[in-house]
Amino acid sequence: MPRKLFVTTALPYANGNFHIGHIMEYIQADIWVRFQKMQRSEDGSPVDVNFVCADDAHGAPIMIAAEKAGKTPQQFVAEIAAGRKPYLDGFHIAFDNWHSTDAPENHDLARQIYRDLKAAGLIDTRTIDQFFDPEKTMFLPDRYIKGQCPKCGAKDQFGDNCEVCGAVYAPTDLIGPYSTLSGATPVLKSSEHFFFILSDPRCVEFLEQWVGGLDTDGKPRLQLEVANKVREWFSVRENADGSRSEGLGDWDISRDAPYFGIEIPDAPGKYFYVWLDAPVGYLASLKNLLDRRCIEAGEDGLSFTEYMADPELEQIHFIGKDIVTFHTLFWPAMLHFSGRKAPNKVFVHGFLTVNNGEKMSKSRGTGLDPLKYLSLGMNPEWLRYYLAAKLNAKNEDIDFNADDFLARVNSDLVGKFVNIASRAIKFLPEGKLVASDFDAHSALTSKSLLALVKDFYDSREYAKGLREVMLFADQVNARFDAAAPWKLVKESKAALAAEKSSEALQMFRVITACLKPVLPALAEQVEVLLKCAPLDWINAADSLPEGHLVGAYHHLMQRVDPKQLDALFEPPAQPERSQAAPEMIANGDRQPSPPPSPGGRGSEPGGEPIAPTITIDDFAKIDLRIALIVNCEAVDGSTKLLRLTLDAGEGTDPQGGPILRNVFSGIASAYQPADLIGKHTVMVANLAPRKMKFGLSEGMVLAASHGDEKATPGIYLLEPWPGARPGMRVR
Ligand SMILES: [Zn+2]
Repeated sequence: MPRKLFVTTALPYANGNFHIGHIMEYIQADIWVRFQKMQRSEDGSPVDVNFVCADDAHGAPIMIAAEKAGKTPQQFVAEIAAGRKPYLDGFHIAFDNWHSTDAPENHDLARQIYRDLKAAGLIDTRTIDQFFDPEKTMFLPDRYIKGQCPKCGAKDQFGDNCEVCGAVYAPTDLIGPYSTLSGATPVLKSSEHFFFILSDPRCVEFLEQWVGGLDTDGKPRLQLEVANKVREWFSVRENADGSRSEGLGDWDISRDAPYFGIEIPDAPGKYFYVWLDAPVGYLASLKNLLDRRCIEAGEDGLSFTEYMADPELEQIHFIGKDIVTFHTLFWPAMLHFSGRKAPNKVFVHGFLTVNNGEKMSKSRGTGLDPLKYLSLGMNPEWLRYYLAAKLNAKNEDIDFNADDFLARVNSDLVGKFVNIASRAIKFLPEGKLVASDFDAHSALTSKSLLALVKDFYDSREYAKGLREVMLFADQVNARFDAAAPWKLVKESKAALAAEKSSEALQMFRVITACLKPVLPALAEQVEVLLKCAPLDWINAADSLPEGHLVGAYHHLMQRVDPKQLDALFEPPAQPERSQAAPEMIANGDRQPSPPPSPGGRGSEPGGEPIAPTITIDDFAKIDLRIALIVNCEAVDGSTKLLRLTLDAGEGTDPQGGPILRNVFSGIASAYQPADLIGKHTVMVANLAPRKMKFGLSEGMVLAASHGDEKATPGIYLLEPWPGARPGMRVR
């Protein structure tokens, strides 16, 4: 039976853009999901995985932020949601669905679950006193109340804890409390709240069993260190310091209007607080996905109810260590006692620190800006690889270190991995593989590598798995170096050179399969290069046949440039873009507005916005030269291209003729070939040669055009003023 997996990541709060902590969690889960999707059962059927997430769209902070921004909460969260795609696509994170907790599915499911819990006798109401802002006429969440710390007297401390002395207290303990929304002195007002009775003996009994228990696959549901911590919370006992742990408390699940959320059934003016709303979003996102598939599949579609009823289904949540209590106590109990499936596993990860700097928690997003990383042209798979090379199955913090990042990516991915292909491919006769047998000479065979790495991925020990893969790559490189095909060729032993190179390329393919969950785009490039079927864990074990034709080598991956890292961590000249931390909103601060684009807001010169700022060093990398167009002709079979023969003053070849470059340029719509011969233009002289259908293009000429070529047609080749000579640099 193939595994059936329902996998989620924690729902991000929809009051700001993603920070690197979110991206790390998504990458961790995405690698696991991609790995699972590469598995097949014995009958060949693929593993069935649904990987979903959603925006956590409700709550007072969003309501207040939207009001400040002059928007409805729905508009506010819709704009945040629209900004998710560049991050997810940019880092190759492939959720099957991204939804919102404000969607109808979530409203319905949250109400159903509540009704079921109520029927089970686990919902109660109590009257509690809470601070109320008489000017805003609303109850104040703790974070919106400030005052003097009751313990040390520090001013302007939040309603739940003191940042000066660390004391934890109730907002009612504050001296001289005030509302951060209006400045008014809050008044105590009583209100009826709804509670989930987690202290009920049934819940305690169930959770003790669930937390310490084994999943259907015989493995623990929780990591050992997590289970141990959770057990401390529900035991009633004397602590070492003489204090008393009271065990599980009941959870307040309601808030009073005005509130942006889901109204509680038969309780007008009462809304579900986060606990009975946000996590239900996991199910709502899945339901939305399955409902859409059902519509496409017609009668053959599998309904959400049927899908969830399958006893083989494994429900798995990836979360950060800051939300463990909730996902290991409240959420399983809430699902179980509403007659639903409790999670199979909760995988907890630590925080990501940057350059040993500050914690990347939910509320802080400084340090490594994911979009800046992408805008600098840094390869997203460098980051995926680097994080994977540090991640393990423990609830431990990991650190992003810039020097380590550069060293590891350049040494492992470029030096050990892609170099195998670049060195080996050229020794194949007519690009064809010959018979070879790596496994006969190796202690670790390709099959045993696949089996070893499989276990490491499945148990989220990515660092250990990648270490094995790189050790294997070392062996492949060592065998290739020892054989020295470049010498064999000179000694007229081309057949042996071909055998050694074929062996290296077969193993390169196995290594690619092992890295594919981490480097999906690079693996796809390799599949094209090797002209092989999409790699999975089963077909990777079978070698490509003798005589198999592979493609010509093309560049697979750049090295990390230290200047990119300098630019990444350069403090922004302007306030950081939309890193809207809850604290900032709670403080009543205005959200920083995005920096104006260099062309002025809203203006798009030439039909496209000005590209992100680069340094003079970035510009200096582009070598622009004056070139003479010595010949120009139409390209047979292309209506767009002209073939230019360029003299860029690069001297003479051994036969005494000038060294010329062949460049294809998409300017056929604008120029007759004869009109260009004898003209000077500007050429990018250090662009990597590109193999095109019609031949090799060894540079690029510069031409101007409008961003919207349909609306404003025209292509204008650049021509220098008279006097410029071939070879002169443009700077
Ligand atoms: Zn204090």
